[in-house]
Amino acid sequence: MRYIEPHAHMVSRTSEDYERMVLAGCEAVCEPAFWAGYDRCSADGFHDYFSQLTRHEPRRAARFGLKHFCWLGLNSKEAEDLSLAEEVLALLPEFLGQPNVLGIGEIGLNKNSRNELRVLEMQVDFAARHHQLILVHTPHLEDKWKGTRLILDVLKNDRRLRPERILIDHVEEHTVGMVLDSGMWAGMTLYPETKCTSARAIDMLETYGREKLWMNSACDWGVSDPLAVPRAALEMRKRGHPPGAIEQVLFDNPKRFLRQSGKFTL
Ligand SMILES: [Zn+2]
Repeated sequence: MRYIEPHAHMVSRTSEDYERMVLAGCEAVCEPAFWAGYDRCSADGFHDYFSQLTRHEPRRAARFGLKHFCWLGLNSKEAEDLSLAEEVLALLPEFLGQPNVLGIGEIGLNKNSRNELRVLEMQVDFAARHHQLILVHTPHLEDKWKGTRLILDVLKNDRRLRPERILIDHVEEHTVGMVLDSGMWAGMTLYPETKCTSARAIDMLETYGREKLWMNSACDWGVSDPLAVPRAALEMRKRGHPPGAIEQVLFDNPKRFLRQSGKFTL
């Protein structure tokens, strides 16, 4: 089996995790910029983080023969401070030209606040001006439906954006339909405690089709599993999905979406 891990926070993982992923058939890992588990004090903290994602982490992955790509942006959990957001946005052009940067992400909403929405609009505008792909984080639990609705409204209102160049991540049963109806891609996050189990993700595949869906582990510093994607493939096999269907969801789909960046190569 071969697969692409389209959403993993490898800065939080050990090198042994890289090795296990490669042993399981991983051919590329993509790392969206996200929250570090604490709020960064200044834009300098983001500068260091973006350097880590574009310079250090690709080298660490390469030691295991694994390609590493990333997404850059200000995550919604740190998007309350508008002046900090402006400073972080001003850093992005310096890094955008790096060969492993796929686009702007993960951006989105966390608590659906007014400032989060304003920062989302700023980053969507930035992505449109710089012709970047967009990867979107959606809020958890009770905020998810409303947050997804708000995010889709922002994205649909910007006529410069093409829906097939946007992926909305962490969809669940009550949001996947509205995302796919909008023409955007949807990501299902396999998480042991919150978000989605393998069984639920495969139910969604069986209900909504494989065309524009991918699965990811989103493994980070929390309780999460860097092998969640190959484990879901095993679950698909047990349910009788043919090898071609598994390859489409785990490998072809992420490749098809990510190749639009012009930088994703294997
Ligand atoms: Zn994430």
